[in-house]
Amino acid sequence: MAEKYDIAIIGAGPGGYIAAIRAGQLGLRTVVVEREKALGGVCLNWGCIPTKALIKNAQMVRFLEERAEDFGISVTDPSASWQKAIERSRRVVKRMNRGVEGLLRKNGVDVVQGTARISSATSLEVTPPEGDKISIQASNIIVATGSRSRLLPGLVADGARVMTSRHAVTLEDAPSRLVIIGAGAVGMEFAYVYNAYGTEVTVVEMLDRVLPLEDQEAGELVAKHFAKSGIDIRLSTPVQSVDIHEGGVKVTLGGGKDGQTDVVEADKVLVAIGRMPNTEGLDLEAAGVAVSERGWIQVDDHLRTSAPTIFAIGDVAGPPMLAHKASHEGVQVVEMLAGLEVHPVDASFIPNCTYCEPQVASIGHSEAAARSAGYDVKVSKFPFIAIGKSIAIGEHDGWVKIVADAKYGEILGATIVGPDATEIIHELVLARSAELTVDDVAASIHAHPTLSEAIHEAALGITGVPLHI
Ligand code: FAD
Repeated sequence: MAEKYDIAIIGAGPGGYIAAIRAGQLGLRTVVVEREKALGGVCLNWGCIPTKALIKNAQMVRFLEERAEDFGISVTDPSASWQKAIERSRRVVKRMNRGVEGLLRKNGVDVVQGTARISSATSLEVTPPEGDKISIQASNIIVATGSRSRLLPGLVADGARVMTSRHAVTLEDAPSRLVIIGAGAVGMEFAYVYNAYGTEVTVVEMLDRVLPLEDQEAGELVAKHFAKSGIDIRLSTPVQSVDIHEGGVKVTLGGGKDGQTDVVEADKVLVAIGRMPNTEGLDLEAAGVAVSERGWIQVDDHLRTSAPTIFAIGDVAGPPMLAHKASHEGVQVVEMLAGLEVHPVDASFIPNCTYCEPQVASIGHSEAAARSAGYDVKVSKFPFIAIGKSIAIGEHDGWVKIVADAKYGEILGATIVGPDATEIIHELVLARSAELTVDDVAASIHAHPTLSEAIHEAALGITGVPLHI
């Protein structure tokens, strides 16, 4: 007779493994089924973590090449090994794989390697890499199967000429010329990394700006920096075709509104145009789980699918495709199942971060979105160049922008572009989720000298007058 669990989770990415840890902490009998040997999902193995390790390398290369002299540091004949950067990034991943394994063990979670299929509202059938199928019974099922790269129609990612992000984080040699299709966070982070390692990078974006989900001015500043570093950015440019030949790829661009076309030759092309859900083979329809037109699992405010005992979290439940969103949703579902009080996730509290240089971080409405949503807004933008810490560390390009309700000072949104933006955004995340106003931020004492003073000054720009400008 198969063992009965309280919760069976499909997928051990940041959604699934965090849900499992929380379930273990709450004393729920829990099993996670993961088809890959390594735990941690896309985020840990192919996404967030390895890219940030590579970005750190890229920052150091840039520092040595462009800024060391300013600091009175001279390095004779510096060299940067791409292979060593990749090796370091994989070591980081391995270390974290072990960490996740240990945490699941510590919390009494059973881990089963294999591919799961939902065989009924309360059971899974798992096909392990070897041996017989396993049946798992559980009172509730959480689908956390994530997503994978979307490709252009007709294009096959062979890793040799056409890559997805999964290839781009493990490439043995940095190519001489690379075309990146898509200027979202993933495309821009890889552009930054490869450019630092000497690759001639062209970024092609169909929309009229880079980081299209961010405040327009933030994208403009990043694009300016990228152009200065020699990255060729083609906006409002559709890709007409990608032709693979023996020596590389020929990417034909254009044919949009102006009808002009252009050809870029490269060694490889990286497709970073978005994600698609991992739902094939799950038998969702038979289990009564509805999906949207684009294939994402449909969930209610409590992440419950149309089948009452089945929940979906993370990427597979639709955008935003972020690890911290997946993890938060995992905790929510499990706490609810454990009988704790939970509140629906408000998407406008989820921070969005891009880790290239300059970094971009935001929450809630951009200025344009707040205005078009009909808010009467007050906007304050404070530049890092007026902040002592920025000058001291030599990183002063960028700003903090806060968008607040004109009458009550409610923080509707914020964007930070510049040094450590992805770290200091959390003051505003907390302020917004705790329903604090800009007055509260302005009244809080901020340590000097810190980059966070730019947030304080931006808040003062709404409640009164900033001090350092
Ligand atoms: P996933 O991480 O995709 O995990 C799903 C798991 O389910 C996988 O391990 C898969 O093998 C398993 N699985 C699927 N189907 C089955 C099945 N039938 N049976 C058993 N197992 C199955 N997000 C951020 O927040 N910050 C970042 O800096 C960031 N950087 C990124 C960089 C890149 C290059 C990419 C591609 C993504 C990045 N993301 C980032 C997004 C982030 O990786 C995802 O949002 C996150 O991994 C989603 O977590 P998840 O648990 O929903 O799914």
